[in-house]
Amino acid sequence: MLPARCAGCGTERTQLCPACRHALAAARPGPTLLPWAHAAAPYADPVRQLLLAHKERGALRLADPLGEALGRAVRSALGPRAGSAPLLLVPMPSARAAVRARGHDPTLRLAGAAARALRRAGLDARAEPLLRHARPVVDQAGLGAAERRRNLHGALTVLPRARRGLAGRQPVLVDDLVTTGASLAEAARALADAGLPARAAATVAATVHRTG
Ligand SMILES: [Zn+2]
Repeated sequence: MLPARCAGCGTERTQLCPACRHALAAARPGPTLLPWAHAAAPYADPVRQLLLAHKERGALRLADPLGEALGRAVRSALGPRAGSAPLLLVPMPSARAAVRARGHDPTLRLAGAAARALRRAGLDARAEPLLRHARPVVDQAGLGAAERRRNLHGALTVLPRARRGLAGRQPVLVDDLVTTGASLAEAARALADAGLPARAAATVAATVHRTG
């Protein structure tokens, strides 16, 4: 057994201490570099540490509090439209090799937790992993904005059989973290081409985050 320490700050005998739980719950969702993508919190500690523990170290119990935050970002991104149609949370796809290496798909898990949080709040929401990689992309680090767009264009596609029973649902892209928004923009393109236009995206954290 690993000694239990808060994944956010290292406090002993708890996986999520009250202070870090509060930091996550009290953050105000707001728009990111993409105005249609809202994040629950800035990408700063302890939220950053909580996301890393969930994603890289398999701290799966953090999915619920992180999913609550993601659900708040979904509502912030949609505004008054949140209750106008059943919601379809579409997680950004993880590379298959990364899922194998980690033993789980963190973004899919967060999408499911966010859908549960939204249902507890009285909204009709479900999560569906509709997107997959159509081809490999090179690491985005070190690429400029135009190179990123070229690298990503056509990189994602909608699973051909995954669309059944989704008519009338409002798609919302979800991810753990947004930086430039280039990946979310490519995912929105793929969904739109498949006849499922997503007018909003939500993430737990953003490197550029504006409250208000
Ligand atoms: Zn803590």
